[in-house]
Amino acid sequence: MTAFVSTRGGASPAPFSVAIEQGLAPDGGLYVPQHWPGITNEDIGADLSLPESAALVLAPFLEGDALSSELPAITAEAFDFPAPIVELDAERRLSVLELFHGPTAAFKDFGARFLASCLTRLRKGAARPLRILVATSGDTGGAVAAAFHNKPDVEVVVLFPKGLVSPAQEHQLTRWGGNVRSFAVRGTFDDCQRLVKAAFVDERLRARFDLSSANSINLGRLLPQMAYFGAASLALWRKHGARASFVVPSGNLGHATACAWARKIGLPIGEIALAHNINRTMPDLLETGEWRPRPSVATLASAMDVGDPSNAERLRHLFPTMTELRRALTAHVVDDAAIRARIKAGHARYGQMWCPHTATAAEAFERHGATSGPWVILATAHAAKFREVVAPLVGQDPPVPPSLAGLFSRVSAATEVNPTLEALAGALG
Ligand SMILES: *Cc1c(COP(=O)(O)O)cnc(C)c1O
Repeated sequence: MTAFVSTRGGASPAPFSVAIEQGLAPDGGLYVPQHWPGITNEDIGADLSLPESAALVLAPFLEGDALSSELPAITAEAFDFPAPIVELDAERRLSVLELFHGPTAAFKDFGARFLASCLTRLRKGAARPLRILVATSGDTGGAVAAAFHNKPDVEVVVLFPKGLVSPAQEHQLTRWGGNVRSFAVRGTFDDCQRLVKAAFVDERLRARFDLSSANSINLGRLLPQMAYFGAASLALWRKHGARASFVVPSGNLGHATACAWARKIGLPIGEIALAHNINRTMPDLLETGEWRPRPSVATLASAMDVGDPSNAERLRHLFPTMTELRRALTAHVVDDAAIRARIKAGHARYGQMWCPHTATAAEAFERHGATSGPWVILATAHAAKFREVVAPLVGQDPPVPPSLAGLFSRVSAATEVNPTLEALAGALG
């Protein structure tokens, strides 16, 4: 049986199902695998679909778990949209991995839908609903709300920073009703994240509700992201006979953690380069060796405006010394002016329309000075979600994918709350 332990070492090992229902480990740490399974390039056949290869990559982590036999059904249900690799430049062996073809047009659909498929199976017939608290800098909340809307035995409460998400994101956060409620917090994303963590360790709230989280602190969000790193790296391995390196647009560092875990189990992944906006807590750690979280600063790549990234705790657990961490990852810092310039250049050079997060990664790639690929830039959101930024730079409106069409016709509602646990507890009712 595979078990998960806390990054802080103060919780007993838990199977996958228990870890995802709890969200956060009881000692306040984050769940990580106790042991690392191994996978070889031959374990996953070339002709498999994404859900099929995902089930193979994830199977060792669910060995002996209550959901183990349902894993193929779960990945089939959750990953019902494609993750195409689009080649940008054959000579440089450079591609983009498009992760924005899900229902809310951002990569968080992968994790959110997987978690929803798992939790609804686990909670069937439970005495009281599971209440999922989710802090969002923009995309997580929409993906989680979409994934859980109208599912039985689960309620979702989304906390987002008032006025700090894009108009399209705000509609995706607030349009649902039913079992989804949204709170506009008078503060930043870090306030939202702090409130969720505080709620978890609050005895009174724990007694009143069965609480869980759907942030990337929840293992059930992170593990499934390993699936497309697996599928993409194996496809490129077969094509080029070399390990693929990834540029990961990073905020809370969930995506980066999933990539590092995928490499850890043996998938053919080379370098991992993190692309940050000017919220540079992680790049500064790599540079100075000091961890200094700070308030987040608003940027064009708003889903990465994180000053105290939670998953750094998982990365530092995996790479306990600075030497190991620096060998494992590099990081680049990209400011708004460079993001704008890269959106323009991506359109002029490749005919691509990149969201600000994807453009941050594309800029980081150019600065990284990579020569021998294959290199993969992760495209984390559809440009249409950031129309206000992208359209003036490329001189036209990004095409609106079917998933986003009709978004603005829905009524939206959010309750405003102050950034305190008392205010949150009151609003939870
Ligand atoms: C969440 C998000 C990111 C950052 O991912 P992390 O796992 O938080 O580092 C990047 N781009 C987009 C579009 C996102 O929604």
